[in-house]
Amino acid sequence: MKAHDALYIDGAWRPAAGHDTIEVVNPADEQVVGRVPAGTVEDVDAAVRAARAALPAWAATPPAGRAALIGALRDVLVARKDEIAETVTAELGSPLPLSQAVHAGVPVMVAGSYAELAATYAFEEKVGNSTVHHEPVGVVGAITPWNYPLHQIVAKVAPALAAGCTVVLKPAEDTPLTAQLFAEAVAEAGIPAGVFNLVTGLGPVAGQALAEHAGVDLVSFTGSTAVGRKIGAIAGAAVKRVALELGGKSANVILPGADLARAVGVGVANVMTNSGQTCSAWTRMLVHTSRYEEAVELAAAAAAKYADRIGPVVNAKQQRRVLGYIEKGVAEGARLVAGGPEAPRAQGYYVAPTVFADVTPEMTVAQEEIFGPVLTIIRYEDEDDALRIANGTVYGLAGAVWAADDAEAVAFARSLDTGQVDINGGRFNPLAPFGGYKQSGVGRELGAHGLSEYLQTKSLQF
Ligand code: NAD
Repeated sequence: MKAHDALYIDGAWRPAAGHDTIEVVNPADEQVVGRVPAGTVEDVDAAVRAARAALPAWAATPPAGRAALIGALRDVLVARKDEIAETVTAELGSPLPLSQAVHAGVPVMVAGSYAELAATYAFEEKVGNSTVHHEPVGVVGAITPWNYPLHQIVAKVAPALAAGCTVVLKPAEDTPLTAQLFAEAVAEAGIPAGVFNLVTGLGPVAGQALAEHAGVDLVSFTGSTAVGRKIGAIAGAAVKRVALELGGKSANVILPGADLARAVGVGVANVMTNSGQTCSAWTRMLVHTSRYEEAVELAAAAAAKYADRIGPVVNAKQQRRVLGYIEKGVAEGARLVAGGPEAPRAQGYYVAPTVFADVTPEMTVAQEEIFGPVLTIIRYEDEDDALRIANGTVYGLAGAVWAADDAEAVAFARSLDTGQVDINGGRFNPLAPFGGYKQSGVGRELGAHGLSEYLQTKSLQF
């Protein structure tokens, strides 16, 4: 794999201040595929200075000009999609078809949507005797996780650039090669020097330095709730803007009149895709007691089909963590109907697609985010019971409702404390706001709502 022994700062690849590096490992075969610099406080400072220096000119670039450059970036992502997919597969371990369709494909959609939004968004509006200008917040510090490496980057950088902000990105340690490819794409698209900067490095070093830097006006973080809490505290103390996209433990609520086979099939696919490393995955399936055993059988059969289809989880630590949760589920009395706590292969960080039945709402596997291919199936007695269980976690990121018709599903969905719900198998919409209720986060990504996160208002009265 191609790896730069440098950071992308102020439009060029520059050596890091220190000599420490981060090894990038392919989780499918445990081989080292590259090394990138572990950026330091000094590197972050250089990157933030470059972003600050580039801010006035970029903010003053007419929206149509910014739109054209984001469009050019989208085109480079299209032209280099095979390389992107191969890189994601090498560092995340996802099967190549998934890398092609989702890891390389979705960012093209999202970048395209912001090329269009930058050109059409109302950056100025009339409110009575006032003109309200929507102005860029300033320099953005973006900190991203490894689970959808390019999507997480594009979902922050594209709206930030559309808004007229400049960016310093600190990507996840496990997937920095995809971030380096993105930086190459930014350069190839002709986006001016300093508008986008990349510092690879460790979270508690480079990530923390970025969040704390006085020259950063907004921190946009996606990752675990534990780190999100820290970032929120840092931003709060400095009175700077913050957006947090955190964990989830979403419910897939199957009401009695639903098409059970479809609801279970889609639900299992939703959890197993990307080896369960999806923050919005519906990891709790809620089934009425009258159809419970039927659903369990369907889910166990569906999960077994994923055994040879899913990739590994991202690293050895994550594998131990997920297997530990499976052991805990067994210890707490849940019934294992697929998979289990043994690693299915001698090499690679694999976890067998796992399904637990007889899960009660208070069990650890029903409350904590596992971030692996593990589905829990919970029984409910009536709709009130289902709602209480569905809303009974600290999270509220996503979910699904299946019913005999859309109206019934919508009525239930409106009572869910969560940011996004798929109705009877509704499709992904890259323009719909995505983000959490409760401890799943603060703020929204994607579409016009995602763009507005990077804007602040100025009112002029006449
Ligand atoms: P993580 O919180 O450990 O790391 C995320 C990023 O934060 C990485 O770039 C990491 O280097 C950095 N980081 C770590 N410690 C830091 C610190 N002290 N200061 C600043 N930055 C720091 O999360 P992860 O393990 O990479 O990702 C998995 C988690 O992310 C899961 O909990 C998942 O639900 C969540 N996630 C949420 C969403 C969402 O949109 N809500 C999307 C994807 C992942």
